[in-house]
Amino acid sequence: MKNKDSDVTNRWEDEIFGENPLMKRAHINYDTYLNCWCPHCGKGFNEDHKAVFEIVNKNGDVGISKVSPYLNVLDRESTIHVDDDEVLADVRCIHCKASLIEQDQLCKEDKCKVMGFFVSVANSIKLKIIVCIRRSCRWYKMSEEDNERLILRDSHEW
Ligand SMILES: [Zn+2]
Ligand SMILES: [Zn+2]
Repeated sequence: MKNKDSDVTNRWEDEIFGENPLMKRAHINYDTYLNCWCPHCGKGFNEDHKAVFEIVNKNGDVGISKVSPYLNVLDRESTIHVDDDEVLADVRCIHCKASLIEQDQLCKEDKCKVMGFFVSVANSIKLKIIVCIRRSCRWYKMSEEDNERLILRDSHEW
């Protein structure tokens, strides 16, 4: 379908729909707008159609990263320099500053750190998404439990 070497800016949705029938069954489309929020304080990350995070790069610089909330999490703009293959030192909630890094989990692709936060679609279905924090790595997963809930609630609501 797509050449892996040339699609650094390519979108996650290709992979999500290619490999995850759960997403299909749940009718989440690549253009589905996801509301993202903090698992610690419960406040939303969405601002002006972007999900906003505080990031710390390898040099210790603190900046703001804006991510498209259309399942296209790699399409991000940052106020500080981040190399494509850089592992961020930290990703935090813009409200409570709690780290979103999942301490007990590592990316299955490259063993680097992952971050977790909650997303919802049309304010009904809520699920947790775990995302590798290295930009060039596109590994992600949805929590199993929530996937289960997604299937069960496959529905009329949206
Ligand atoms: Zn928070
Ligand atoms: Zn990774």
